[in-house]
Order: sequence, then structure tokens, then C-alpha cells
Amino acid sequence: MDHRALNRPNRPNRLNRPNRPNRDNRLNRLRLTRLAAPAVAALVALTAGCTGSTVQGRPGASGLRDPYFPKAGNGGYQVDHYALDLGYRPADRQLTGTAVITARAEQTLSSFNLDLSGLRVDAVTVEGEPARYNRTGRELTVRPRKDLGKGEVFRAEVRYSGTPRPLTDADGSQEGWITTADGAVAVGEPVGSMTWFPGNHHPSDKASYDITLTVPQGYEAVSNGELASRRDTGDGRTAFAWHSAEPMASYLATAAIGKFKVATSRTSSGIGVYNAVAPGEEARSAAALGRLPEVVEWGAGRFGPYPFATVGTIVVPDGTLPYALETQTKPVYSGAPSVELTVHELAHQWFGDSVSPKSWKDMWLNEGFATYAEWLWSEDHGGPGAQKRFDALLAGDTSFEGADAAHWDAFPPAAPPGPEDISEAPVYYRGAMVLQRIRQEAGDERFFDLLRGWAADHRHGNASTADFTAYAQQRTGRDLKKVWDVWLYGEDSPKP
Ligand SMILES: [Zn+2]
Repeated sequence: MDHRALNRPNRPNRLNRPNRPNRDNRLNRLRLTRLAAPAVAALVALTAGCTGSTVQGRPGASGLRDPYFPKAGNGGYQVDHYALDLGYRPADRQLTGTAVITARAEQTLSSFNLDLSGLRVDAVTVEGEPARYNRTGRELTVRPRKDLGKGEVFRAEVRYSGTPRPLTDADGSQEGWITTADGAVAVGEPVGSMTWFPGNHHPSDKASYDITLTVPQGYEAVSNGELASRRDTGDGRTAFAWHSAEPMASYLATAAIGKFKVATSRTSSGIGVYNAVAPGEEARSAAALGRLPEVVEWGAGRFGPYPFATVGTIVVPDGTLPYALETQTKPVYSGAPSVELTVHELAHQWFGDSVSPKSWKDMWLNEGFATYAEWLWSEDHGGPGAQKRFDALLAGDTSFEGADAAHWDAFPPAAPPGPEDISEAPVYYRGAMVLQRIRQEAGDERFFDLLRGWAADHRHGNASTADFTAYAQQRTGRDLKKVWDVWLYGEDSPKP
């Protein structure tokens, strides 16, 4: 994600907010959460004991206890594949959807949850049989006719409809299904994807996707991956079938509907490019999109092979969003992007999209790396290098990064105070500075080997901050404890 250099007039300055929870409050909350877990487990064990059966299914958990979004995602299963068949009418904003979710039970399940916000559920089946279901808040609980066995692969189908509504984040920005001047766009970081399809909406559960969007003739519909087919349905509509073979975290799924101008090409190594640009933004987007193939090949040189079969761009009308998002294979930009912004969002394809965070506490593994990629691009193209930008920030000079960077030292990047802080300056800039500190300790050769090794060894997977620190120590052969203590976890502002 990137919200710098974009219009953000309504974005509150969160670092100056008055009632920010202090650190002690946060630690108390975390401690309570941890204590709660064994207590719940004990209760479940007691309940199971009362039935006199050891094989009876039990409900899957309604959340994955993410440190910042505890109800995001669901326990008891992992999704292998989502097949989303969506019809949308921009004129009256009506969405009609069928989600076919293929998943594997990780425990015996009497019921399981899906995350879904708003919309109306019309029917649910599991393994082709009608299933009972009920909704509480953003949880859709599904009770299959028969318990699911541990290890069983099952197919759940949810039919739903209605007018999708976006969510307002803790930081005041909007995410999810967002209406544009001529259609709609879906951006899901961190939990907005539940506004347009039911699922296991936590980055730790990645799956492959087939997303088919059916829209009135004259509209384009764009999603992740490659366009498998485009056909007239015979009733005045066009169906666009998009296929993502590589695993994707659900917050990176997108659907964009509008009167886009579409252009396709290939990079020099043969990766297909699909750019969809809102009318009126083509001329201002031309410079950045013209260099997109070069940015991808540069990224492959620095970080290792590009992780996906396709790449591209979605430019929605200017003013739609106060940020850009690295939606997988096709980042979304609100208005024409700069070259630097495309470098940031394309770097996320390696760091965030292919190597995804295990929890939202690990956000700096996305943003610190994407910010560092901007510094490297600058270094490789005659601009100020990473060391210069590091030195400037440390000296309080934000002229390279912009005023947003001034609070880069407000908290440690690996421990944002709360969910409203995961997109704040320290996660980006101090995260990038952590990488520069490693480079200082390890030297260029070992540092760039670390970046490539990290992207390769966790390709299409998930990783945590602890995974990274252990990997960096091992890969560079250096003792980096001081870097972690001062730069990654230290509450105090690092001193020059
Ligand atoms: Zn970003």
C-alpha cells in the first residue's frame, strides 16, 4: 500500500491523535488475549468430554487471533481454491455472487465460519447438500448436514446478493468494494475483501482463484492473474474470466469494473502485461506504464525471478482512493501513478504478495521492503542512494521522502501500537532503515543475497518477523541482535 504523494485531505494525522492507547494498555490487551486461549481450549475439551465421543466434530474458531484483527480469518480449515462468479450492475450497484470454496478441514468440524460483511446470503451448500447457516456481525457460520472429518477436502458454495458497502478502517480510510465514477473497484487491505466475497480473510490462508466478472456490455472488468476468456453472454452482458494459479492472500484480490482503456504487451523476458486505465488518465499514466516492463525486469535482477505469470496495472479515476494498493499482479492506482509509485507496488509482488505476512503485525515486511525498493531504484538510476536517504531521515531531513516521513521513529516497526498504525510512517521508513542497517553490517554481497534468498525460500508462502530475523542471521552469517533490539523492536528513537 502507498498513501504518500497522493491526495489525502481527509486522512487524520494519526500520530497526533489525542487518545492514543499507551504501551501498557496494549500489553495488557495482548496478555488478556493470550490468557483467554487456554481457557477456551479447556472449555471445549470439557464440552467434548460430556458427549462421550472422541470423534464428534466441533465448531471451527471464528477468528485466527491476529494481534491486531483477532476476528479476521477463521480456524479449522484452509482454503485451496476460490471460484467467484460475480455479476455487477454499475447503474444500481447490485452484486450477485456465487462463491465456491474448496477447502481442507484441519480438525473435525461440526461447523465452520466464513467472513462476510453486508450483502444477503441466499443459499449455502456443503458437498452439494443444503447446509444450515446463520450470521452474527461479520461472521457467517455454516453447519454442514454431516460433520467434516479432519483432513477432508470439502466444497462449500455460497450464493449471495445485494449492494456491497465499503468498510471504514481504524485509521479512517475506506477499503473493500468502493464505487468509482464509472463503476467499482475492490481493495482489501487489511480486511475489506469480506465486503464482496465470503472467505477466510486472513493473509495466512492463501489460495488460488478463478474470478469471473459479468458486467453490462461496454464495461471492462479486470481482476488478478490472466484473462482466460472474454465472452458475450447473449443477454447484453460480457463475462470476463480471470485465473490466478499462484496462491494469493485474500486482501490482494481485486475486481475493477469501469470504462477502462486496455493495453497489453510483454516484458523483455516474456511476462504478459495487462494495463487498464480509466478514461482521461491515459496521457498522464503513459510515462510510468511505459516503464513498467523495465521496472519488472529491474526487480527480477535485484530480488530474483518475478513471482507471477502476469503483471499489469489498474488505474481508477483520480480521487477514488487516498492510497494505492499492491493487488496481486495488478496494483490499483487512484489516478495516474508516478514511476516511483509503480516501483513500490511492483516490489510488493515479491514482498507482500509472494512472501506474505503471517499476521498483520508483520506489515513492515511488506512496507519496509517496498520502501527500500524505491531507495534501490533511485540508487540504480542516478538518484540519491539508500545510504543517503537513511542518513537524511536519521538527521531529521525529510526532503527525499516527504513530510509524511517525519514520524519515522514514532514506534518500532515490528510492534505498531494498534491496528490504526499498521500503515504509519515507521512501518515504511524505519522498516526500510532496518534493511539498510543490515546492509551496513553484512556488506552489499551478503545483503543482496539475503534479499534474493528471502524471496526465493518463502516464495508463495507466509513469513513472520521472527522468521526474517532468524533467516537474516543465518544467511548473512552476522550477529544482528543490536539491529533488531534498536531498530526493529526498540521503543526509543535510534540515535545517529
Ligand atoms: Zn506499500
